[in-house]
Amino acid sequence: MIKITINKTVLELTEGNITEQETDAIVSAANSSLLGGGGVDGAIHRAGGPAILEACKKLGGCPTGEARITTGGNLKAKYVIHTVGPVYHDGKRNEPELLAKAYKNSLALTSQYKLRSVAFPSVSTGAYGYPLNEAAMIALKTVIAYLETHTDIQVVRFVLFNFKACQIYENTLKALIQ
Ligand code: ADP
Repeated sequence: MIKITINKTVLELTEGNITEQETDAIVSAANSSLLGGGGVDGAIHRAGGPAILEACKKLGGCPTGEARITTGGNLKAKYVIHTVGPVYHDGKRNEPELLAKAYKNSLALTSQYKLRSVAFPSVSTGAYGYPLNEAAMIALKTVIAYLETHTDIQVVRFVLFNFKACQIYENTLKALIQ
């Protein structure tokens, strides 16, 4: 676990399962239908129960790079922020901008709902195939830039699902803050 302070916010990196987080919101890496998927999204729907899918059905999907918010159902987190990262092709199809937008829009919802804490998975780096090194750089740069200009969120936590992802995020963060 790494903790650093950016402006008024504690930025944390930890290895773990995002469904168990006690932050006010957890972010899901969803697909644009918002009607359930595998990976982290499947795990969140299983852990949070059917109320999340019921709420998602009313939203009519979510374009890539945007974010939507629903109840957290039975999760410890009160809200789930559903964001849709890009599918990685070759890095030349706007993937970096879309991935950055997914993080920015998720943070904007966190602020809009006056939430104190939010946990992110590593969006797009599972089924959507984004190279972990590049995704970590975009995720961390985007979050840091947001926190440098917004002081309302107390904690932003990245919850990485395995040791390798955790190491890559840690090394990327260290390089960025040096
Ligand atoms: P995407 O379709 O955006 O690539 P995935 O769910 O396939 O989304 O993967 C995104 C990341 O979430 C991957 O790095 C994967 O290892 C991770 N992940 C899967 N399950 C969990 C979980 N329960 N908690 C945190 N991260 C998870």
